[in-house]
Amino acid sequence: MKEKEIKTVFYEYNSLTDLPSEEIRLVEKARQAAKTAYTPYSHFNVGASVLLATGEIIEGSNQENAAYPSGLCAERVALFYASSHFPEIPVRTIAITAYGKNGFLKDPVPPCGSCRQVMIEIESRFNSPIKVILSGRNKIWVIVSAKQLLPLVFDHTFLLKR
Ligand SMILES: [Zn+2]
Repeated sequence: MKEKEIKTVFYEYNSLTDLPSEEIRLVEKARQAAKTAYTPYSHFNVGASVLLATGEIIEGSNQENAAYPSGLCAERVALFYASSHFPEIPVRTIAITAYGKNGFLKDPVPPCGSCRQVMIEIESRFNSPIKVILSGRNKIWVIVSAKQLLPLVFDHTFLLKR
């Protein structure tokens, strides 16, 4: 038996202004998107903005439904919109932010497992990493590739190898 270790690397910033201006703009877009969330049940508003290789920015917010599983996370609203409208264009970066009853959250909110899975499939599809920016009020985490967020991922290569 061997013990194996998986390491995840990410970068923490204390101020949004430490990021490049293109990424600041993307976080601002995510914050605007959070205002369009439909969250009558959780009151937990998430905004996501996706930067495509062409420079286009797609925004999304979480959309809930009385039949809970019918809703969708902000990240996947934005990513699926991008994929359906710009199917040939790789995603470069996604910024994610959230607010609750007391405004934007202090700490970054990482995406759920399903959204990580979707991000990784887009990375694989275009063979191009997606930078993930998780923005809180006091802290920003930057992950250089979505793959870092889901070790031992089940991806399309298993299906192709069958
Ligand atoms: Zn999600």
